Amino acid sequence: MKDLRTLEVWFVTGSQDLYGEETLKQVAVHSQAIAAYLNEREQMPVNVIWKPTVKSPEEIFAVCQDANIAKNCIGIVAWMHTFSPAKMWIGGLKILQKPLLHFHTQFNRDIPWNDIDMDFMNLNQSAHGDREFGFIMSRMRLNRKVVVGHWQDEETLSKVDTWIRAAAGWHDWQGAKFVRFGDNMRYVAVTDGDKVEAEMRFGYSVNTYGIGDLVKVINEISDAQVDALVQEYADSYTLMPSLLKGGEQHASLRDAAKIELGMQTFLEAGNYKGYTDTFEDLHGMKQLPGIASQRLMAKGYGFGGEGDWKTAALVRAMKVMGSGLKGGNSFMEDYTYHFNPDNRLVLGSHMLEICESIADAKPSCEIHPLGIGGKADPVRLVFNSAPGPALNASIVDMGNRFRLLVNEVLAVAPLHNLPKLPVARVLWKPYPNMHTGCAAWIYAGGAHHTGYSQNLTAEHMEDFASMAGIEFTLIGKETSLYQFKNELKWSDVYYQLNKS
Ligand code: MN
Repeated sequence: MKDLRTLEVWFVTGSQDLYGEETLKQVAVHSQAIAAYLNEREQMPVNVIWKPTVKSPEEIFAVCQDANIAKNCIGIVAWMHTFSPAKMWIGGLKILQKPLLHFHTQFNRDIPWNDIDMDFMNLNQSAHGDREFGFIMSRMRLNRKVVVGHWQDEETLSKVDTWIRAAAGWHDWQGAKFVRFGDNMRYVAVTDGDKVEAEMRFGYSVNTYGIGDLVKVINEISDAQVDALVQEYADSYTLMPSLLKGGEQHASLRDAAKIELGMQTFLEAGNYKGYTDTFEDLHGMKQLPGIASQRLMAKGYGFGGEGDWKTAALVRAMKVMGSGLKGGNSFMEDYTYHFNPDNRLVLGSHMLEICESIADAKPSCEIHPLGIGGKADPVRLVFNSAPGPALNASIVDMGNRFRLLVNEVLAVAPLHNLPKLPVARVLWKPYPNMHTGCAAWIYAGGAHHTGYSQNLTAEHMEDFASMAGIEFTLIGKETSLYQFKNELKWSDVYYQLNKS
């Protein structure tokens, strides 16, 4: 997966000339110390770059302009150590296209009770300097994240880390290309949507290729390449006996490997960050890609089944955001319910395509019939997923806006072995409980497909939605259905009035 260390966040400190050289020298020393501290923390996923203090409209405009065109700059962290009259910021903020985090901190953690004098007061002014800055961003109706706390406080800094990971996902979407092999599953509503609006809003493009274009690439894969990948399968997974060399279905394993190699070649050649396919359009392919999609997801590609391009793009962004964290991110579908009143659960899975990054142990590589698609039996990886906190996220097109819906869930260990269910699967309990969680999801129009995450939190997703300027709706531990239904109604009014 992507190494986020190639990315940068710029640490920008605001002030003004009024303070004189001595105070401004102190401001620079302090802001350098904070930037260095942030940068050196082990949890910091990117490089934090200190920028010289900005003190005038011209300097502020210039740093915003530079940030816009800097290829690896994913956002700005702004802090007003002293007072920085905020009309100076209007021009810069107006053109700034990168996300902004307003870090409301102070260099000194404690008030030095015995020594505090007017020099100290003159320097440590963020308590009011940051309010002036906050006003102009509110006045301009600009989305940003405000993080409050001392810069050495871990709880505070984890909020900064979260925002930075969201910014990395957002940065990855800008100019990204997603490819659809075939169109949407026929008649399906929620996986469809406005691709023009999505490109304007999200920065990624989605285009379709006929399945024949992919099949051509698959057919050009050499036997030697297939040999090598089949060996990799044998080294990485527990192969069921019929798939082993000499086994009666070994040829199907080779077909699956050839499909994976062809898809990867196609994606690399087109510089795509993810894709969709559909079982309704597989002309010339021997199997529906199962293990291929599972492994390509594990390599960082976004994936959505049945032409679901919004989920493919979301899964990709989630993978970038979670890069380097323990746990994984996968395409997912709410499949079947366990309505036992003692232990209500959702069984999440898909026909085949669950990413092995969420596997709790070495996957088993198997082949079984699939009653849909009318093709040869597809090879797939079968595994369970670890218990623990997780979430499901879905982006839906509400016609006048996109909505990012998140449900926090608690994954639980499998209750039974499920010997006859030959697909990867997860069991979870939706928060706040099964009945409220599922009802809220349905009221909000959430899709049956989701991005499932073990390592992202609702805060990552909220920060991400804010960067995109779209609606964020959370179903969590505190959700009451009555309140939630009202939120949806109020939100509808907000997006009618707020047409930018
Ligand atoms: Mn599906």
